[in-house]
Amino acid sequence: MSRWDQHLHERLAALAARGQRRFPRAAALRPGGRLLRGGREAVDFSSNDYLGLALHPLLAERAADYAARLGAGSGASRLVTGTLEAHLALEARVAALKGAEAALVLASGWQANAALVPALVKAVPGAAVFTDRLVHASIHHGCAAAGVREIRFRHNDLAHLDALLARHADAPARIVLTESVFSMDGDRADVAALGALAGRHDALLVVDEAHATGVLGPGGAGLTHGIAGVDIAMGTFSKALGGFGGYLACSAVMRDWLVNAAGGFVFSTALPPAVLGAADAALELVPQMDAERAHLEALGERLRGGLARMGIDSGGSTTQIVPAIVGAEEDALRLSALLEERGMVAAAIRPPTVPPGTSRLRIALRAGHSHGDVDDLIAALEAAR
Ligand code: PMP
Repeated sequence: MSRWDQHLHERLAALAARGQRRFPRAAALRPGGRLLRGGREAVDFSSNDYLGLALHPLLAERAADYAARLGAGSGASRLVTGTLEAHLALEARVAALKGAEAALVLASGWQANAALVPALVKAVPGAAVFTDRLVHASIHHGCAAAGVREIRFRHNDLAHLDALLARHADAPARIVLTESVFSMDGDRADVAALGALAGRHDALLVVDEAHATGVLGPGGAGLTHGIAGVDIAMGTFSKALGGFGGYLACSAVMRDWLVNAAGGFVFSTALPPAVLGAADAALELVPQMDAERAHLEALGERLRGGLARMGIDSGGSTTQIVPAIVGAEEDALRLSALLEERGMVAAAIRPPTVPPGTSRLRIALRAGHSHGDVDDLIAALEAAR
């Protein structure tokens, strides 16, 4: 073993000793909110395919059609020769859905967040960056890449943000980053109030809509649609939209700046045709999926009701993401394992992903689930306790 391999071996053993070593396990999405893993089909409460679009035939057909017509790869980065008409058409479609002037498509949601903050700080060196404490790792990554020290505000605490913005009134610019639906808690930000607050302070407001797009807002447009004061709505095609890729919806001049300044856009190969085809089909379907959205809402209500009857805290969830907060890491792991024995998959989420003492099952509802699936989950949790 090389010195590196020896060292890594020890580090992995230390992770394993803390119960934190992880392994990717092969699985495949199945219709009806199911998942095939280890040769067994289970009810899937973990993946983010909220609307069931990942298996929708129109997405697969259009992906295949684009690949057949345009090839498997795009050949270069967007500014060299990688931009297809299909990239521009998809960007126009995203802008229309989000009610924005323009949009830019990037390799993934992670890439969008990681590339955005450095590009903004390049425009205004010394800008102060404010983040909700619970924002996604990709936003922290973007801040680190930009070399800025994040000024973190308490989760969804607009009075705290207000005070921090006032304290940094002399910064050359102020940028606020938050999410409209929080990925581990399923609660929402008050986007209208945030927009008004950002407006009062003349701060730039960026809202990550990864878990809201497709599921919430008019026609699944997300929670920033039509809200004044939101400068950039970030999102991903990888969750409710069933495919892959990220986007930033913004003004035309902001898009132009990002095209010129966002390293993750400039230096990465353009998304391939098949991915664009799937995203295009998803954007065609999503506005018509009000029935699925209403069903998800009803499933969420039912699950939160069941958890409340058992005395299990579901935090501030009001969406298709419902945490069952049990506190101790061992309890979350044990519950997840017991559910798996009963043919249900719900991941245990532990520190550092969530704060200590708030380990949980993160339950992601999918439109393919029936009320019976939720009742079975509630019964299994009850039996496990
Ligand atoms: N933002 C949030 C809030 C997310 O949950 C995720 C996905 N885990 C991302 C960004 C990254 O998106 P993608 O999976 O498309 O890279």
